[in-house]
Amino acid sequence: MTSKRGRDIQPFMVMEVLEKAEKLERLGREIIHLEVGEPDFDTPRCIKDACCGAMEDGKTHYTGSMGLIELREAICEDYRQRYDVTVHPDQIIVTSGTSPALLLLFSALLEPGQEVILPNPYYPCYPNTIQFVDGKPVPIDVSEEDAFQYEPDLIRETITSRTKAILINSPSNPTGHVMDRERMADLCRFGPYIVSDEIYHGLVYEGEAHSILEFTDRAFVINGFSKLYAMTGWRLGYVIAPKPYVRPMQKIQQNLFISANAMAQWSALAALTRAQTDVDRMVETYNERRLYTLRRLKELGFGIAIEPTGAFYVLANAKRFTDRSYDFVFDMLEKAGVGVAPGIDFGTNAEGYVRFCYANSLENIERAMGRIEGYLKNRGQESAVRGQERKGKDRGQGSAVRGQ
Ligand code: PMP
Repeated sequence: MTSKRGRDIQPFMVMEVLEKAEKLERLGREIIHLEVGEPDFDTPRCIKDACCGAMEDGKTHYTGSMGLIELREAICEDYRQRYDVTVHPDQIIVTSGTSPALLLLFSALLEPGQEVILPNPYYPCYPNTIQFVDGKPVPIDVSEEDAFQYEPDLIRETITSRTKAILINSPSNPTGHVMDRERMADLCRFGPYIVSDEIYHGLVYEGEAHSILEFTDRAFVINGFSKLYAMTGWRLGYVIAPKPYVRPMQKIQQNLFISANAMAQWSALAALTRAQTDVDRMVETYNERRLYTLRRLKELGFGIAIEPTGAFYVLANAKRFTDRSYDFVFDMLEKAGVGVAPGIDFGTNAEGYVRFCYANSLENIERAMGRIEGYLKNRGQESAVRGQERKGKDRGQGSAVRGQ
């Protein structure tokens, strides 16, 4: 019998949409992918060059478990420049992606049964990772009319003696919204630690994102290179932690991972110090796609109460079309050849929503919207026909009854 832990962990649904899409592709179908949250851009040249250089120079061995000091210093400098905050290299552990950073952090933070408040909708790996280390995720509903932001009074009511942390993710996956400065400051006043996932920082098209470290030291930051630098496959991230938590996390890292990939760390250093022009170009392009996607989704009848201004997602209200987002997206994949993520993957409060990722070329997004338009029209006609048939049947039954 496999372990309870292994049996209980939930799958990541968006991966299941992707896997189904790949099956269709093997059968010869052409699918447009708006489901997976990853940049379509190639990793910038200067980063790839740094990787080749590191390999040539023989930097192909383990590094210290906390990560290269050069990289940790560059991360401190990045936070100083962007947010005017002081982070010490000893507070940083470099990890093989942000996902392992979450595992280290929650492993070092939570006793069994301790609670972490998170917004519903959420990034699905949050509750799954918290439960994996025997913590308890406590989702709080946030609403589209409020740009999917926490309502401070609701948090106040939800905090108990077991609440260890409040999680924030701004810009957010799946909503694309950026949290207001005031709300961030409010959250810090409640007492529990704040865990701030800042992986989409830099991908902001209007206004600005703030680091939680501008407001408090009682916070953990997780961040990584996957999104901003188009480095998903390189697997590199980091956690910035209050000092008492660093040593426990370091020991977990030593045992579970030893260190992050050495070449990827040298490449990440190039990302922080040399890739800004490439980043600017990608951000500008994402913004064009964002504006186009928003306009077309509205034309197609999806609800967007407040336009998202960050990351590369739109969580659109599809309640006009469905209250079963899982069935809806698989049907759309089969019939229209467009992959999107079902709202239910991101929590019960996102049922009836669909997440569109616009990290794809404008041309592909245009084609996808055309296909979705056709799909929704056919679907409307099919349901009208079904409605007629049902009415016909009812009338038939009715007359039979009357005839008796
Ligand atoms: N946090 C959020 C909000 C994400 O969207 C993702 C990737 N989808 C991650 C963390 C994990 O990223 P990675 O492990 O590639 O750094």
